Amino acid sequence: MSSPQIILRDIRKIFTMGDVRVEALGGVSLTISKGEFIAVMGSSGSGKSTLMNILGCLDTPTSGSYSFEGVQVEDLDGRQLADLRNTKIGFVFQGFNLLPRTSALENVELPLLYDRHRKKLEPRKSSIAALERVGLGKRLDHEPSQLSGGQQQRVAIARALVTQPSLIFADEPTGNLDSRTTLEVLTLFQQLNREGMTLVMVTHEPEVAQYVGRLVELRDGQLLKDERVEQPRDAAADLQAQYRGATV
Ligand code: ADP
Ligand code: MG
Repeated sequence: MSSPQIILRDIRKIFTMGDVRVEALGGVSLTISKGEFIAVMGSSGSGKSTLMNILGCLDTPTSGSYSFEGVQVEDLDGRQLADLRNTKIGFVFQGFNLLPRTSALENVELPLLYDRHRKKLEPRKSSIAALERVGLGKRLDHEPSQLSGGQQQRVAIARALVTQPSLIFADEPTGNLDSRTTLEVLTLFQQLNREGMTLVMVTHEPEVAQYVGRLVELRDGQLLKDERVEQPRDAAADLQAQYRGATV
């Protein structure tokens, strides 16, 4: 663990609809270091997605300050924000968000085709490498409907990795997966994390939160808990145990 990658100070987010005001975040301060693996927990409506959207520069806070790798995010204009998102941040969502009737390879290439990419990555080569990294090197031509849920989520993770981001935000990435497939995704996340990737994952499943290094819990838009996990479980080992038919 090293220097702070993200510093949030007193982040508030208020949604107004007519004369109804909802305070989704009521002053959240959080520091994230490079190489952390964090689970954000909390019941429905506690502000998890709002926090992730702000962290991912998909939404702006009503007030507070956000520093990303030394850059003050509130000082950026729309184009600079888009650049930051496209080059530094990878997203993984619950619903995979893959294009139907489009091969795994083409799905993964998309972020590199859209973006006037500063890193000059070669789309085809980079996408094959990303799919190999998630264990789908033999599924390049498969369309989403020809892949299992876990494989689809791994394509989505390859798509998040292809731009070589410095961190990944995942909102309920295992929300649609059975327990074995969940372990496959967690195995991959733990591998990426060991290679130095920062990962922040929203989950409402306590079992999933056993695999991270730090637990953050929100309640009613406030940080209720922020603690280290002393000995995170090893997803690969638990997956092995499941394959051997043992109970975990
Ligand atoms: P979670 O992801 O933990 O379920 P959210 O961050 O989605 O919670 O929502 C936090 C609160 O903010 C909820 O009360 C929700 O209704 C409200 N909220 C979220 N997004 C919007 C929006 N775009 N407009 C109005 N209210 C919103
Ligand atoms: Mg949510």
